[in-house]
Amino acid sequence: MTAKDRFVRLIAATGPISVAQFMAESNARYYDSRDPLGSAGDFITAPEISQMFGELIGLWLADVWDRAGRPAPVHYVELGPGRGTLARDALGAARRFGLIPQVHFVEASTALRRVQARLFPQAQWHQDMASLPDDAPLLIVANEFLDALPVRQLVRTEAGWRERMVGLERTQGGDRLVPVAGERPMDAAVPPALADAQPGAIIETCPAAAAITGEVARRLAAQGGAALIIDYGRSAPAHGSSLQALRAHAKVDPFAWPGEADLTAHVDFSDLPAIATGSGARWLGTAEQGTFLIALGLGARVAALCAAAPDQAPTIRAAAHRLAAPEAMGTLFKVLGLAAPDWPDGAGFQT
Ligand code: SAH
Repeated sequence: MTAKDRFVRLIAATGPISVAQFMAESNARYYDSRDPLGSAGDFITAPEISQMFGELIGLWLADVWDRAGRPAPVHYVELGPGRGTLARDALGAARRFGLIPQVHFVEASTALRRVQARLFPQAQWHQDMASLPDDAPLLIVANEFLDALPVRQLVRTEAGWRERMVGLERTQGGDRLVPVAGERPMDAAVPPALADAQPGAIIETCPAAAAITGEVARRLAAQGGAALIIDYGRSAPAHGSSLQALRAHAKVDPFAWPGEADLTAHVDFSDLPAIATGSGARWLGTAEQGTFLIALGLGARVAALCAAAPDQAPTIRAAAHRLAAPEAMGTLFKVLGLAAPDWPDGAGFQT
């Protein structure tokens, strides 16, 4: 039975399920069974585009750790490390500055754990953040992790706001999963600034991203350390669904391929600083990815790599452009920096 058949059966038996439940279960199944990254997979991420991305993250970590007094032991924690590429490049660069942390991966996918173990046989894996060590500072990195967490959607109807659900449409060609409005009034859950909207308007929140950010902040406050949370998203709340599905590098209907396509949503970066500071961490700033990488020395990395491998120069320059140019990933992707209250500022954030 395919994943879609399971959803059809469930919904036929118990009625529509929330978009949040749909996204959570679809992605759990999707990630558990495969390595979705790279040109042969469904999507590509910054660390898979170029080693420069991870190297600059590693230099950022080594720099704050150095200015925090080089505490030891120290733990490197990556949330959703994918193939382990970012960890390899970051820790390779950090090692040159004497930063050799213990490695912890928060990873739900069995398939990806296996891939990560090839590069990091000594790593410790965690299902969620609860089991992370509490004896030493944490250097936490999450790239394209929050966007995979389930969003909750509310939709405006003639009768008021409702949760957006996934229901069934029975057609001659077979059953289709389609968005429908729930029955329970949800007006009380709508932020006043967004409440006034035409029927059909959608509001999206991500309680799981807020919870993870709060947990990261609490850990930093209690243990020391710093964190970089990198993702694509918006810097102000907005109406509309940003739910999208990628399959073989093409956008598809987010409801058509449960468990077979990567479901993501824009991260709302406007919420996260208040959540983090409310949980005891210091907000170092939020930068656009392009600005951040250039401030960290992307230009110098490009020059060094091109000098070492002149025949690769066009590829290296194209990768840097893709990571940093405004029309590529440079402005859509944001970097949120957090630290323990007594840890230093991080490079790359103008405050
Ligand atoms: N950071 C990597 C991979 C991004 S894909 C990169 O930049 O290439 C998202 C990653 O998060 C995958 O490793 C996926 O298995 C993991 N993931 C998604 N949802 C998760 C969850 N709820 N708990 C733990 N890991 C999750």
